[in-house]
Amino acid sequence: MSIPAKAYAAFDPHSPLVPWEIARREPGPYDVQIQILYCGVCHSDLHQARNEWKNTIYPCVPGHEIVGRVVAVGEKVTRFKVGDLAGVGCMVDSCGHCDACASGEEQYCREGFVGTYNGRGPGSENTYGGYSQVIVVKEAFVLHIKHPEKDLAAVAPLLCAGITTYSPLRHWNVGPGKRVGIVGLGGLGHMAVKLAHAMGAHVVLFTTSPGKTADAKRLGADEVCISKDPEQMARYREQLDFILDTVAAPHRLDDYLQLLKRDGTLTLVGAPSEPHPSPGVFNLLFRRRSLAGSLIGGIRETQEMLDFCAEHGIVSDIELIPIDYINTAYERMLKSDVKYRFVIDIAASLK
Ligand SMILES: [Zn+2]
Ligand SMILES: [Zn+2]
Repeated sequence: MSIPAKAYAAFDPHSPLVPWEIARREPGPYDVQIQILYCGVCHSDLHQARNEWKNTIYPCVPGHEIVGRVVAVGEKVTRFKVGDLAGVGCMVDSCGHCDACASGEEQYCREGFVGTYNGRGPGSENTYGGYSQVIVVKEAFVLHIKHPEKDLAAVAPLLCAGITTYSPLRHWNVGPGKRVGIVGLGGLGHMAVKLAHAMGAHVVLFTTSPGKTADAKRLGADEVCISKDPEQMARYREQLDFILDTVAAPHRLDDYLQLLKRDGTLTLVGAPSEPHPSPGVFNLLFRRRSLAGSLIGGIRETQEMLDFCAEHGIVSDIELIPIDYINTAYERMLKSDVKYRFVIDIAASLK
Protein backbone atom coordinates (compact mmCIF):
# COMPACT_ATOMS: atom_id res chain seq x y z
CA MET A 1 0.00 0.00 0.00
CA SER A 2 1.22 3.47 -0.77
CA ILE A 3 -0.17 6.91 -0.10
CA PRO A 4 -1.28 8.92 -3.14
CA ALA A 5 -0.30 12.59 -3.07
CA LYS A 6 -0.94 15.42 -5.49
CA ALA A 7 2.24 17.20 -6.52
CA TYR A 8 3.83 19.55 -9.04
CA ALA A 9 6.64 18.21 -11.17
CA ALA A 10 9.09 19.14 -13.89
CA PHE A 11 9.25 16.52 -16.64
CA ASP A 12 12.16 17.99 -18.61
CA PRO A 13 14.52 20.99 -18.34
CA HIS A 14 12.52 23.28 -20.60
CA SER A 15 8.84 22.82 -19.74
CA PRO A 16 6.95 24.47 -16.89
CA LEU A 17 6.09 22.48 -13.77
CA VAL A 18 2.70 20.78 -14.05
CA PRO A 19 0.33 18.90 -11.72
CA TRP A 20 1.21 15.25 -11.18
CA GLU A 21 0.39 12.50 -8.71
CA ILE A 22 3.03 10.64 -6.72
CA ALA A 23 2.94 7.72 -4.27
CA ARG A 24 4.50 8.02 -0.81
CA ARG A 25 5.53 4.94 1.13
CA GLU A 26 3.33 3.78 3.99
CA PRO A 27 5.15 4.93 7.18
CA GLY A 28 7.53 2.24 8.50
CA PRO A 29 8.29 1.78 12.23
CA TYR A 30 10.66 4.80 12.32
CA ASP A 31 8.77 7.05 9.90
CA VAL A 32 6.71 10.19 10.36
CA GLN A 33 3.96 11.03 7.87
CA ILE A 34 3.48 14.78 7.42
CA GLN A 35 0.62 16.63 5.77
CA ILE A 36 2.44 19.51 4.11
CA LEU A 37 1.06 22.98 4.82
CA TYR A 38 3.73 25.24 3.32
CA CYS A 39 6.84 24.84 1.20
CA GLY A 40 9.43 27.55 0.56
CA VAL A 41 10.86 28.08 -2.91
CA CYS A 42 14.66 27.84 -2.92
CA HIS A 43 16.91 28.77 -5.83
CA SER A 44 18.07 25.13 -5.85
CA ASP A 45 14.53 24.11 -6.83
CA LEU A 46 14.85 26.06 -10.04
CA HIS A 47 18.39 24.80 -10.76
CA GLN A 48 17.22 21.23 -10.24
CA ALA A 49 13.95 21.53 -12.19
CA ARG A 50 15.93 22.90 -15.16
CA ASN A 51 18.82 20.41 -14.83
CA GLU A 52 21.35 23.20 -14.42
CA TRP A 53 23.53 20.96 -12.25
CA LYS A 54 23.28 18.15 -14.84
CA ASN A 55 22.08 15.54 -12.36
CA THR A 56 18.30 15.89 -12.39
CA ILE A 57 16.22 12.73 -12.37
CA TYR A 58 12.87 13.35 -14.07
CA PRO A 59 10.08 13.68 -13.15
CA CYS A 60 11.39 16.08 -10.51
CA VAL A 61 9.24 17.30 -7.59
CA PRO A 62 11.26 20.08 -5.91
CA GLY A 63 10.86 21.62 -2.45
CA HIS A 64 13.05 21.32 0.67
CA GLU A 65 11.67 23.99 2.97
CA ILE A 66 8.75 22.01 4.31
CA VAL A 67 6.42 22.75 7.21
CA GLY A 68 3.41 20.61 8.03
CA ARG A 69 1.47 18.60 10.56
CA VAL A 70 2.10 15.03 11.63
CA VAL A 71 -0.79 12.76 10.60
CA ALA A 72 0.71 9.32 11.33
CA VAL A 73 3.77 7.87 13.06
CA GLY A 74 5.44 4.45 13.03
CA GLU A 75 5.38 2.31 16.17
CA LYS A 76 9.01 3.04 17.07
CA VAL A 77 8.69 6.81 16.74
CA THR A 78 9.18 8.50 20.11
CA ARG A 79 9.67 12.22 19.50
CA PHE A 80 6.58 12.99 17.38
CA LYS A 81 2.87 12.35 17.75
CA VAL A 82 -0.13 12.94 15.54
CA GLY A 83 -1.04 16.63 15.52
CA ASP A 84 2.50 17.97 16.09
CA LEU A 85 3.92 20.61 13.80
CA ALA A 86 6.96 19.37 11.93
CA GLY A 87 9.59 20.57 9.49
CA VAL A 88 11.75 18.88 6.87
CA GLY A 89 14.79 20.53 5.27
CA CYS A 90 17.26 19.52 2.58
CA MET A 91 18.03 15.98 3.81
CA VAL A 92 15.87 12.92 4.51
CA ASP A 93 18.58 10.33 5.22
CA SER A 94 22.32 9.67 5.43
CA CYS A 95 24.59 6.67 6.11
CA GLY A 96 24.40 7.22 9.89
CA HIS A 97 27.83 5.73 10.70
CA CYS A 98 30.60 7.74 9.00
CA ASP A 99 32.59 10.31 10.98
CA ALA A 100 30.45 13.19 9.72
CA CYS A 101 27.16 11.48 10.61
CA ALA A 102 28.59 10.39 13.97
CA SER A 103 29.30 14.02 14.81
CA GLY A 104 25.86 15.21 13.73
CA GLU A 105 27.08 16.79 10.48
CA GLU A 106 24.96 14.66 8.14
CA GLN A 107 25.28 17.28 5.40
CA TYR A 108 28.91 16.16 5.02
CA CYS A 109 28.09 12.41 5.07
CA ARG A 110 30.94 10.51 3.37
CA GLU A 111 28.44 8.47 1.39
CA GLY A 112 26.44 11.55 0.48
CA PHE A 113 23.22 12.50 2.24
CA VAL A 114 19.89 11.65 0.63
CA GLY A 115 18.36 14.88 -0.65
CA THR A 116 14.72 15.61 0.11
CA TYR A 117 14.23 15.69 -3.65
CA ASN A 118 16.33 14.36 -6.49
CA GLY A 119 18.02 12.05 -3.99
CA ARG A 120 18.50 8.32 -4.30
CA GLY A 121 17.54 6.71 -1.04
CA PRO A 122 17.96 3.06 -0.09
CA GLY A 123 15.26 1.21 -1.98
CA SER A 124 14.24 4.35 -3.80
CA GLU A 125 14.97 5.47 -7.34
CA ASN A 126 14.32 9.10 -6.61
CA THR A 127 12.99 11.26 -3.78
CA TYR A 128 10.19 13.77 -4.21
CA GLY A 129 10.13 17.04 -2.31
CA GLY A 130 7.70 19.48 -0.77
CA TYR A 131 5.69 20.61 -3.79
CA SER A 132 3.26 17.89 -2.73
CA GLN A 133 0.52 17.22 -0.20
CA VAL A 134 2.25 14.57 1.91
CA ILE A 135 5.78 13.44 2.77
CA VAL A 136 6.99 10.42 4.77
CA VAL A 137 10.37 10.90 6.46
CA LYS A 138 12.54 9.00 8.93
CA GLU A 139 12.01 10.49 12.40
CA ALA A 140 15.72 11.31 12.77
CA PHE A 141 15.39 13.82 9.90
CA VAL A 142 12.18 15.52 11.10
CA LEU A 143 12.36 18.80 13.03
CA HIS A 144 10.11 20.26 15.73
CA ILE A 145 8.54 23.66 15.08
CA LYS A 146 7.92 25.83 18.13
CA HIS A 147 6.85 29.05 16.41
CA PRO A 148 3.22 30.19 16.77
CA GLU A 149 0.92 28.75 14.09
CA LYS A 150 0.30 32.16 12.49
CA ASP A 151 3.99 32.26 11.53
CA LEU A 152 4.16 28.83 9.92
CA ALA A 153 4.40 29.96 6.28
CA ALA A 154 7.29 32.27 7.14
CA VAL A 155 9.04 29.50 9.12
CA ALA A 156 9.37 27.27 6.02
CA PRO A 157 12.42 29.08 4.53
CA LEU A 158 14.32 28.59 7.78
CA LEU A 159 14.70 24.92 6.79
CA CYS A 160 17.17 25.82 4.02
CA ALA A 161 17.91 29.57 3.87
CA GLY A 162 17.89 29.77 7.68
CA ILE A 163 20.23 26.88 8.43
CA THR A 164 22.54 27.68 5.49
CA THR A 165 23.32 31.03 7.11
CA TYR A 166 22.99 30.05 10.79
CA SER A 167 25.52 27.23 10.62
CA PRO A 168 28.52 29.28 9.40
CA LEU A 169 27.65 32.20 11.70
CA ARG A 170 27.83 29.76 14.63
CA HIS A 171 30.84 27.84 13.36
CA TRP A 172 32.90 31.05 13.07
CA ASN A 173 31.68 32.30 16.47
CA VAL A 174 29.69 35.33 15.43
CA GLY A 175 28.38 37.15 18.48
CA PRO A 176 28.76 40.22 20.68
CA GLY A 177 31.91 42.24 19.99
CA LYS A 178 32.28 40.86 16.46
CA ARG A 179 32.01 42.97 13.31
CA VAL A 180 30.39 40.88 10.63
CA GLY A 181 29.84 41.53 6.93
CA ILE A 182 26.95 39.98 5.00
CA VAL A 183 27.25 40.13 1.21
CA GLY A 184 23.96 40.23 -0.71
CA LEU A 185 20.39 40.79 0.46
CA GLY A 186 18.38 37.98 -1.12
CA GLY A 187 16.78 34.85 0.33
CA LEU A 188 19.98 33.85 2.13
CA GLY A 189 21.31 37.34 2.85
CA HIS A 190 18.18 38.64 4.54
CA MET A 191 18.21 35.63 6.89
CA ALA A 192 21.93 36.15 7.58
CA VAL A 193 21.30 39.78 8.56
CA LYS A 194 18.48 38.84 10.95
CA LEU A 195 20.46 35.98 12.52
CA ALA A 196 23.78 37.82 12.92
CA HIS A 197 21.91 40.73 14.48
CA ALA A 198 20.09 38.41 16.90
CA MET A 199 23.42 36.79 17.83
CA GLY A 200 24.59 40.20 18.99
CA ALA A 201 27.13 41.05 16.28
CA HIS A 202 27.64 44.43 14.63
CA VAL A 203 26.30 43.80 11.11
CA VAL A 204 27.43 45.48 7.89
CA LEU A 205 25.39 44.61 4.81
CA PHE A 206 27.10 44.82 1.42
CA THR A 207 24.82 45.30 -1.57
CA THR A 208 25.07 46.63 -5.11
CA SER A 209 21.58 48.21 -4.78
CA PRO A 210 21.31 51.54 -2.90
CA GLY A 211 17.53 50.89 -2.92
CA LYS A 212 18.00 48.11 -0.37
CA THR A 213 19.51 50.33 2.35
CA ALA A 214 16.32 51.03 4.31
CA ASP A 215 15.22 47.42 4.16
CA ALA A 216 18.61 46.15 5.32
CA LYS A 217 18.43 48.40 8.37
CA ARG A 218 14.88 47.29 9.12
CA LEU A 219 16.09 43.67 9.02
CA GLY A 220 18.90 44.35 11.50
CA ALA A 221 21.93 45.75 9.66
CA ASP A 222 23.82 48.39 11.64
CA GLU A 223 25.49 49.75 8.52
CA VAL A 224 25.00 49.37 4.78
CA CYS A 225 27.85 49.60 2.27
CA ILE A 226 27.16 50.03 -1.44
CA SER A 227 29.73 47.63 -2.84
CA LYS A 228 29.94 49.31 -6.25
CA ASP A 229 31.36 52.43 -4.58
CA PRO A 230 35.14 52.04 -4.02
CA GLU A 231 35.17 54.86 -1.46
CA GLN A 232 32.56 53.18 0.69
CA MET A 233 34.36 49.84 0.37
CA ALA A 234 37.68 51.42 1.38
CA ARG A 235 36.14 52.49 4.70
CA TYR A 236 35.84 48.84 5.74
CA ARG A 237 39.40 47.75 4.95
CA GLU A 238 40.66 45.43 7.71
CA GLN A 239 37.58 46.19 9.78
CA LEU A 240 35.66 42.90 9.82
CA ASP A 241 36.13 39.68 11.79
CA PHE A 242 34.00 37.53 9.51
CA ILE A 243 32.18 37.88 6.20
CA LEU A 244 29.37 35.63 4.96
CA ASP A 245 29.06 35.89 1.20
CA THR A 246 25.61 34.79 -0.01
CA VAL A 247 25.91 35.94 -3.63
CA ALA A 248 25.55 33.22 -6.25
CA ALA A 249 26.83 35.27 -9.21
CA PRO A 250 30.59 35.21 -9.91
CA HIS A 251 32.35 38.26 -8.41
CA ARG A 252 35.77 39.40 -7.18
CA LEU A 253 36.44 37.84 -3.78
CA ASP A 254 39.50 40.07 -3.26
CA ASP A 255 37.17 43.02 -2.76
CA TYR A 256 35.95 41.31 0.42
CA LEU A 257 39.13 39.55 1.58
CA GLN A 258 40.69 43.00 1.96
CA LEU A 259 37.98 43.96 4.43
CA LEU A 260 38.97 41.21 6.87
CA LYS A 261 41.12 41.82 9.92
CA ARG A 262 44.09 39.55 10.64
CA ASP A 263 42.86 35.93 10.96
CA GLY A 264 39.46 36.86 9.54
CA THR A 265 37.44 34.44 7.40
CA LEU A 266 35.38 34.94 4.25
CA THR A 267 32.85 32.12 3.94
CA LEU A 268 30.91 31.38 0.76
CA VAL A 269 27.40 29.93 0.84
CA GLY A 270 26.17 30.98 -2.62
CA ALA A 271 26.54 28.41 -5.42
CA PRO A 272 27.54 30.14 -8.66
CA SER A 273 27.11 28.22 -11.92
CA GLU A 274 30.42 29.72 -13.15
CA PRO A 275 33.39 29.95 -10.73
CA HIS A 276 34.44 33.23 -9.06
CA PRO A 277 37.69 34.69 -10.42
CA SER A 278 40.53 33.25 -8.31
CA PRO A 279 41.45 35.60 -5.43
CA GLY A 280 45.00 36.96 -5.02
CA VAL A 281 47.07 34.83 -2.67
CA PHE A 282 48.73 37.87 -1.04
CA ASN A 283 45.42 38.96 0.46
CA LEU A 284 45.41 35.66 2.30
CA LEU A 285 49.12 35.49 3.23
CA PHE A 286 49.64 38.91 4.64
CA ARG A 287 46.89 38.82 7.24
CA ARG A 288 46.62 35.03 7.63
CA ARG A 289 43.09 35.27 6.27
CA SER A 290 40.95 32.26 5.35
CA LEU A 291 38.59 31.63 2.48
CA ALA A 292 36.00 28.97 3.30
CA GLY A 293 32.69 27.41 2.31
CA SER A 294 29.75 25.97 4.22
CA LEU A 295 26.83 23.70 3.28
CA ILE A 296 23.43 23.88 5.07
CA GLY A 297 23.81 22.36 8.58
CA GLY A 298 23.30 19.08 10.43
CA ILE A 299 19.96 17.96 11.86
CA ARG A 300 20.89 18.77 15.46
CA GLU A 301 22.02 22.25 14.45
CA THR A 302 18.90 22.76 12.32
CA GLN A 303 16.79 22.10 15.42
CA GLU A 304 18.99 24.50 17.40
CA MET A 305 18.45 27.14 14.68
CA LEU A 306 14.65 26.64 14.68
CA ASP A 307 14.57 26.96 18.48
CA PHE A 308 16.80 30.05 18.37
CA CYS A 309 14.47 31.63 15.79
CA ALA A 310 11.34 30.75 17.78
CA GLU A 311 12.90 32.27 20.89
CA HIS A 312 13.93 35.47 19.07
CA GLY A 313 10.77 35.79 16.97
CA ILE A 314 12.72 35.33 13.74
CA VAL A 315 11.00 34.21 10.54
CA SER A 316 11.66 34.82 6.86
CA ASP A 317 10.14 37.76 4.94
CA ILE A 318 7.92 36.01 2.42
CA GLU A 319 5.45 36.31 -0.42
CA LEU A 320 2.81 33.58 -0.11
CA ILE A 321 1.76 32.08 -3.46
CA PRO A 322 -0.60 29.37 -4.75
CA ILE A 323 1.17 26.44 -6.36
CA ASP A 324 -0.06 27.23 -9.86
CA TYR A 325 2.00 30.45 -9.62
CA ILE A 326 5.26 28.49 -9.31
CA ASN A 327 6.47 28.97 -12.90
CA THR A 328 5.92 32.74 -12.68
CA ALA A 329 7.66 32.72 -9.30
CA TYR A 330 10.73 31.09 -10.89
CA GLU A 331 10.90 33.82 -13.54
CA ARG A 332 10.59 36.53 -10.88
CA MET A 333 13.22 34.81 -8.73
CA LEU A 334 15.68 35.00 -11.63
CA LYS A 335 15.19 38.78 -11.59
CA SER A 336 15.54 38.89 -7.76
CA ASP A 337 11.98 40.20 -7.78
CA VAL A 338 10.91 38.82 -4.40
CA LYS A 339 11.19 40.06 -0.83
CA TYR A 340 12.71 37.73 0.13
CA ARG A 341 11.36 34.23 -0.34
CA PHE A 342 8.35 32.74 -2.11
CA VAL A 343 6.42 30.24 -0.02
CA ILE A 344 3.78 27.98 -1.54
CA ASP A 345 0.49 27.66 0.32
CA ILE A 346 0.29 23.91 -0.29
CA ALA A 347 -2.74 23.19 1.89
CA ALA A 348 -4.84 25.92 0.28
CA SER A 349 -3.81 25.53 -3.35
CA LEU A 350 -2.89 21.88 -4.02
CA LYS A 351 -6.19 20.05 -4.09
ZN1 LIG B 1 17.59 25.27 -0.61
ZN1 LIG C 1 27.43 9.35 6.82
